[in-house]
Amino acid sequence: MNVLIVFTHPERHSLNGALLDVMVAELKAQGHEVQVSDLYAMHWKAAVDRADFPDIGPDERLKVASASSREFAADGLTGDVKAEQDKLRWADTVILQFPLWWFAMPAILKGWIDRVYACGFAYGVGEHSDRRWGDRYGEGMMAGKRAMLVVTVGGWSEHYSERGINGQIDDLLFPINHGILFYPGFTVLPPYVAYRVDRLDEARFRTVADELRERMRTLEATSPIPYRKQNDGEYQIPTMELKPGLETPGAVRFALHVGESKSQGE
Ligand code: FAD
Repeated sequence: MNVLIVFTHPERHSLNGALLDVMVAELKAQGHEVQVSDLYAMHWKAAVDRADFPDIGPDERLKVASASSREFAADGLTGDVKAEQDKLRWADTVILQFPLWWFAMPAILKGWIDRVYACGFAYGVGEHSDRRWGDRYGEGMMAGKRAMLVVTVGGWSEHYSERGINGQIDDLLFPINHGILFYPGFTVLPPYVAYRVDRLDEARFRTVADELRERMRTLEATSPIPYRKQNDGEYQIPTMELKPGLETPGAVRFALHVGESKSQGE
């Protein structure tokens, strides 16, 4: 299996850096091919701007989605973006690894998504008509690939529990898992989240490293989050609201879009 890890930390000698080493070593021991995109080491340009679309004239109004669509179709996107898109094509599994910063991913990783996820590549794929909203949420270019988040968090797990003051971790990660990974077609595995990491002693580090090794060993066997697919008939057209009566009892808001667990691999 080909695994791409998008590593997001400004310091290679960090906890995240040590956990990256743990993951890479375990994946290679399992016989997998691994590529790492180390965004800070690559000096990844995070902001989308005119420089991303070389064919846009100086007086032309920049409309990001249409410029992105045009350059993608013409193979005219910048070399750094095309290289990351090639890594995504190559990968069977993609891991986004980052410390939780302000309840979200660090800006440089968001900027990787903003630029690499071109129109025609990660969105704007498939038929868009009055009866179909394209190939997304379970379909799209990343269909057949798996993805998961590896996240380190300063707060306690209780702070991120159902009644925790920070909000539930599944809710905080929903825009990434559902909006960024499931949308272009990835099968999304449950995230690995390490809590209370700022004062980690050696014993806790060993526990976290062991848990992460186990997640790397079971990438292909882990049951995904059973998000509902857009084009499986569960949503009303064209409003894309979940049809009445399909919800899991008690489920509201984000949880509405998680269906029954199916057998492995969907
Ligand atoms: P490091 O600082 O590198 O290390 C953390 C601990 O692990 C240290 O005690 C270190 O000694 C130990 N360690 C490192 N490497 C090893 C090793 N090889 N072996 C054994 N021990 C090791 N937290 C929240 O909960 N919610 C937030 O919204 C949030 N926002 C933040 C915003 C910013 C801008 C910042 C800077 C932090 C924020 N945090 C937040 C905390 C953040 O999530 C954690 O600081 C981060 O996840 C820790 O990961 P790290 O790789 O930076 O750890």
